[in-house]
Amino acid sequence: MRVRKLLDKEEILSIIRRLAKNIVNYYNSELNLVVVLEGARRFALDLVDEILKIKSIKINIFYIKLSSYGSGTSSSGKVIVEKDIKENLEGKDLLIVEDIVDTGITINFLRSYLLNNKKAGSVRICTLLDKPSRRKVNVELDYVGYEVPNKFVVGYGVDFDGKYRELDYIGFLEQNVDKK
Ligand code: IMP
Repeated sequence: MRVRKLLDKEEILSIIRRLAKNIVNYYNSELNLVVVLEGARRFALDLVDEILKIKSIKINIFYIKLSSYGSGTSSSGKVIVEKDIKENLEGKDLLIVEDIVDTGITINFLRSYLLNNKKAGSVRICTLLDKPSRRKVNVELDYVGYEVPNKFVVGYGVDFDGKYRELDYIGFLEQNVDKK
């Protein structure tokens, strides 16, 4: 499958700089990031870099791995915690860092999980990409990097069955490859 470029590295970084500015305007003393693996790892590291360029703020990073049943470009809507956060999050103000919000099922699950199971004080959401046209669950997103069309996007950490994560740009998969 071919990948059609949507955002190059410079465009991604300028989006991240804008997000970082908005985030530091809101958080004063400490930032507790919940990074959703694997897809958001790369985004989160660049986001932390940009935040620290603006403000010297204490940042704690917690990683969680989720999986939804199904593979490829579709999921069944059932989310499970594959690798949990061990640290105590009780009462903490958390900011979820996600790569892409599609139906909203994953992020909605995680938000409830952090509030109800981990007893977080508050949960806000930052996503690099948002695909609102596919939303099934209404969920409030506090920081959105870029709205993508109803296409399957890959690159910059975002994968398709484990592939394309390493691309330093974001693009979408084209089903119809040119036949010459
Ligand atoms: P949701 O639960 O439907 O919002 O989907 C969220 C998860 O599905 C994301 O964290 C991604 O792992 C995956 N996903 C949704 N859309 C895409 C896409 O276009 N490309 C790659 N992964 C996607």
